[in-house]
Parts: sequence; C-alpha cells; structure tokens
Amino acid sequence: MYHYIRKNIESARKLYQTFGSRLAPDQDIASRLERLKKSTQNTQEKFSSTGISAECRKCGEKGQDCCRAGTENNCDDILLLINLLLGGALCHKPIAPTACGFLDRQGCTLIVRHVICLNYLCQTIQQKIDHKRLIAVQQAIGRELDLQFVLSEKIKEKIKELSITVQRVKTSL
Ligand code: SF4
Ligand code: SF4
Repeated sequence: MYHYIRKNIESARKLYQTFGSRLAPDQDIASRLERLKKSTQNTQEKFSSTGISAECRKCGEKGQDCCRAGTENNCDDILLLINLLLGGALCHKPIAPTACGFLDRQGCTLIVRHVICLNYLCQTIQQKIDHKRLIAVQQAIGRELDLQFVLSEKIKEKIKELSITVQRVKTSL
C-alpha cells in the first residue's frame, strides 16, 4: 500500500539533495515558492474558518473517505520536492493502517497537497457551509492549484537544465 509513496519520497529527497541548493536561490522559483506558500496559508485559513478542517479531521481520524490509506500515492516526487523546498518534513507515519501516512491528529502534515486532496469537497461540507463562503474556498483552492501547476513545470524545466549542464561537464572531463 505505501510502497509507491515511499519510493516517491525517496526520489524527492534525492532531488532535494542534488538540486535543492540550486533551485532555492533561483529568483523566479523563489518568488513562486513564496507566493505558493502564502496561497496555501490562505487556503488553510479558509478551511479552518469555515469548519472544513474540523470536519475532515473527524473522517481522517477514522481513516475514512478522502484521507484513507493509498490517497497519498497520488503525490509525485515534484510535489513532494516542493514541500521540502518550503521547509516541510515529509513525515509519512500512518496513525492507523487505514489512514493516509501524511495524516496526523491535527490533520494533513503536507504544506502543498495534491489536487485530489484540495479539490474534493463532499456533500456534508457542501451542505454545512454557506454558499458564499464555499465559493471563496473554491477560489482560494483554484489560485493555489494554478500556482502549484506553474511552479511544478518551472522546477521540472530547471532540473532538466541543471542535469544537462552536469552531463556536459562530465563528458568534457
Ligand atoms: S471532504 Fe468530506 S468526506 Fe472528505 S475528509 Fe472532508 S469531511 Fe470527510
Ligand atoms: S495527503 Fe493530506 S489531504 Fe491528502 S489524503 Fe493524505 S492526509 Fe489527506
């Protein structure tokens, strides 16, 4: 069940060790990381103030629904690398065999989450939250996902560029 995510975590850690020190000072990537961080904080604040976090935590503690074991397998190494670049610890310790390993008693431990984790708001939530506030949450999620998508592409491009440079240096030796 956790084999796939553990491989992705290992890959993200390797990418971080190899490229982290060259990705973080890149001005474009640094400013996009900062914007994404602020955006995730804004989304979290909205999840909290509307009561979504509390609802989701109840499900998570039972290892049910969205935060069940295996959902984390959607997180690829670039998403996990972004978490590391933002100072996340990638702590994958399942609190129950039925639970996603990124879930702890306070909720999700990832800073940046997969689109599946962000986008889905179940019927219970849709019925409990006032329509206007729900729209504000969805807008915050949309902004976060846009930033996340562009940043992921930029990081992939930069890693490719750095890998080509390293390869060229090796072949010229
Ligand atoms: S979105 Fe709904 S079903 Fe999913 S974890 Fe939150 S409360 Fe539970
Ligand atoms: S990564 Fe976070 S939000 Fe997504 S399933 Fe796991 S604990 Fe839930």
